[in-house]
Amino acid sequence: MNKPLLAGVIGNPIWHSKSPRLHNYWLKFHKINGYYIPIHVEPNKLEDNISDLISLGFRGVNVTIPYKSSILSFADTITDRAAVIGAANTLYFNSDGKITADNTDGYGFKKNIYHYFPSWMPANGPAVVLGAGGAAKAIIHTLLSEGVPRIKLLNRTKSKANAIAESFGNKVEVVDWYASDEALKDAISIVNTTSLGMVGQPDLKLNLKNISSNVLITDLVYNPVDTNLLKTAKTLGYNTVDGLGMLLYQAELGFSNWFNHKPDVTEELKAIMLEEDF
Ligand code: NAP
Repeated sequence: MNKPLLAGVIGNPIWHSKSPRLHNYWLKFHKINGYYIPIHVEPNKLEDNISDLISLGFRGVNVTIPYKSSILSFADTITDRAAVIGAANTLYFNSDGKITADNTDGYGFKKNIYHYFPSWMPANGPAVVLGAGGAAKAIIHTLLSEGVPRIKLLNRTKSKANAIAESFGNKVEVVDWYASDEALKDAISIVNTTSLGMVGQPDLKLNLKNISSNVLITDLVYNPVDTNLLKTAKTLGYNTVDGLGMLLYQAELGFSNWFNHKPDVTEELKAIMLEEDF
């Protein structure tokens, strides 16, 4: 039997991660001789543990909280998008022992939307992004790459929105968190990147009554998949996309690289990811 291919996810805490369920489903489904392992890493051991994984023959790892930004200092190559976002969620260990750091969140976001709405044309009008946390930068970078002419960025803590807007230039305009009604009016893409709507969190309440009829509303929250924001939007007849597909598509690139096989995002997989404690 050939040597199994190895990959995993590093973080702290790590045992809650759903990535092992996802990647091990794909390994089994595609009959690949490989393992995907959750690995708890102490902050003062990050560099040593990465070297150990390379020595042990790992092909790479996903990176989660709290190492998404600090991991960049150990990478030999940083993709343009990871550099702009300032964080990586996927590492590739090259055969020469060198490390490439990538951020696949924006890829997953975009691929998920085009899967449901192949004719989505974000360049045709302004976007509203709510939230200025870790995920927001990947979304803003992707929207701008897709040709969005103007982004209105709203966040409860305005200083964080200001910092992001400054890093992206004059296409990103900060709008007061409490002035969303006006901001939403001409948007054709609306993206919730806050954690509002997540289980245990209050809902994100937006006035969706006076917005463009051809708007697409995306929620990054995937637990629950059908957030109250999306439910309201659907009731009013707007197109919506939930966060689960993004979670699955963002994993596609790492899996393809480590296990030499492009995995399928299927409805069966989505159902499995929603089982039990998810
Ligand atoms: P984060 O860095 O912790 O940012 C949280 C954001 O939510 C901040 O903008 C924060 O505003 C805002 N927020 C939290 N509580 C709020 C409240 N009560 N009122 C108003 N705003 C509030 O988190 P993140 O990593 O960006 O993730 C954000 C969400 O996206 C989470 O639900 C996460 O699960 C989801 N996500 C999904 C995917 C996917 O693949 N679908 C990928 C990444 C993230 P302040 O700055 O004012 O605190």
